[in-house]
Amino acid sequence: MPAPPDLVTLRPEGLYCPPGDFYIDPWRPVDRAVITHAHSDHARAGHGHYLAHSLSAGTLRARLGAAIPLQTLEYGEQLQHHGVRISLHPAGHVLGSAQVRIEHGGQVWVASGDYKLEADGTCAPFEAVRCDTFITESTFGLPVYRWPSQRELFDDIDAWWRANAAAGRPSVLLCYAFGKAQRILHGVDRSIGPIVVHGAVEPLNAVYREAGVDLAPTLRVTDPGVDAKLLRTALVLAPPSAQGTPWMRRFARHSDAFASGWMQLRGARRRRGVDRGFVMSDHADWPGLQQAIAATGAERVFVTHGSVATLVRWLREERGLDAQAFETEYGHGHEDEADGNAGSAA
Ligand SMILES: [Zn+2]
Repeated sequence: MPAPPDLVTLRPEGLYCPPGDFYIDPWRPVDRAVITHAHSDHARAGHGHYLAHSLSAGTLRARLGAAIPLQTLEYGEQLQHHGVRISLHPAGHVLGSAQVRIEHGGQVWVASGDYKLEADGTCAPFEAVRCDTFITESTFGLPVYRWPSQRELFDDIDAWWRANAAAGRPSVLLCYAFGKAQRILHGVDRSIGPIVVHGAVEPLNAVYREAGVDLAPTLRVTDPGVDAKLLRTALVLAPPSAQGTPWMRRFARHSDAFASGWMQLRGARRRRGVDRGFVMSDHADWPGLQQAIAATGAERVFVTHGSVATLVRWLREERGLDAQAFETEYGHGHEDEADGNAGSAA
């Protein structure tokens, strides 16, 4: 019996579902796009129609414009399109992030977008979805990547902030504005001191708060009462792009740190030129990727971005799966931890 036709194929515009005539996280403008989450390498401007989770609406509109033609689904809700059954399932990555489940002609395919296994309290926890074929990321697909637990991570961040506050110096923590910053605001011990955020972070905080996520109260540097004395015990959250800018100069004698999965590597930390590195990622680590892939029960796996060759080889040789690469444009030069890629994976 011939193999059934693939439910997702690769086109110059992105991942394409032929029977449904739609794309998943396309990198070029298309008529119909299903969007896994609002990070800029997955959610681009210019599509004719967007389908995403309802909790992605706020971040998508904040980033792509209030008027984008957007249709939303809840997790597990099903939609029929050209005879293809589409549903979204939690990816545990950022607010509203979803895996896309496609069912047609007796086959089930799942495209995961980006995902993370440990629950972090700021988005619905990852859910394994059974499927015949799984399309996975591999951002941190090397054995060296093993994340500390949420508890260990926040114990470390709190201890650093507490020690700086006791010494009277601001704690500047560089982190991506969408996802990381909100995890930090949810997880830190807010009794240690005030929290000040960069202007790039606050609009995303507003979207999270509107969705009911509990974030610590935040101040802007321009708020009344934010003076040198207050800043001495403050935690300051800013995007990596703020490093070395005049904005940073107002935090006298500060200690700085960077929160990223790449901080697992000493070289990446050194290149960042910060006092501390906290190993924190919105992506699955190496054991997490293996666990997630096994839990789908899939016999075919496509790997989209990150350490693709390593994961493909491991899945073929260690798991005996039919694994191959999809050449995509995810994770290239965009905010979602992609920047650490250059040279640090060697
Ligand atoms: Zn992402």
